[in-house]
Amino acid sequence: MNTKLVVGNWKMNGDLTANAALAGSLLLAMGTPRCAVAVCAPMPYLAQMQAILANSPVALGAQDVSSHADGAFTGEISGSMLRDFGVRYVIVGHSERRQYHGETDQLVADKVKQALAVGVTPIVCMGETLAQREAGATEEVVRRQLAAVVHGNGHCISEIVLAYEPVWAIGTGKTASPEQAQKVHAVLRAQLRAATDHAAGVKILYGGSMNAGNAAQLLVQSDIDGGLIGGASLKAQEFLAIIAAADAVAASA
Ligand code: PEP
Repeated sequence: MNTKLVVGNWKMNGDLTANAALAGSLLLAMGTPRCAVAVCAPMPYLAQMQAILANSPVALGAQDVSSHADGAFTGEISGSMLRDFGVRYVIVGHSERRQYHGETDQLVADKVKQALAVGVTPIVCMGETLAQREAGATEEVVRRQLAAVVHGNGHCISEIVLAYEPVWAIGTGKTASPEQAQKVHAVLRAQLRAATDHAAGVKILYGGSMNAGNAAQLLVQSDIDGGLIGGASLKAQEFLAIIAAADAVAASA
């Protein structure tokens, strides 16, 4: 079985003092997890987090990357800039960026390409809205979102991490049931299999109100390789409990 990957998405939260306290609490209690762990910090704090996480089991992630390599793109952050700060993962195509910043499937695919080009692993988010789920369009939506990334990135697709994040479950306290999540993950895995011989090694994370109470049931599903965690990653004890659940699932596999 692949190692699980647990990633915290801090979104637009924190400050110098709060970040140091949160990361300090995590590192103090974490030990050496069996699973891989990362936290995706807001851009201005990447240098701070690079210093705090150095030589720790927690990798550094960012929350967005430009679709361009460099040039006159005011306000944008390139993949090579992220790499300069030791960034290992970058979230791409989060539903909040698709919804509030008009990010299209094509733009997401271009951002994935930029991240891959500099050796930063994109965590590519996809998922349906409540209206799309109720209309029975879940599979169609995630297939379309993944197809754009596959089309734009060819055989490099085996280097990405996917995150299935039903929009209706993000920050709402509503979680997809383990069966609902596994069903969509299996669809994504099958689509990956058609694109690469290495589909089994591509991590597919679940995200959407994952917490200490529901993590184990989700993470035990055969195609759920980890979690992308928003709100619960801002509470050290909650995030540590999710990491412990991932480790327990891996140990019993
Ligand atoms: C997210 O924003 O990626 C997320 C999963 O958020 P939450 O865990 O708060 O639902």
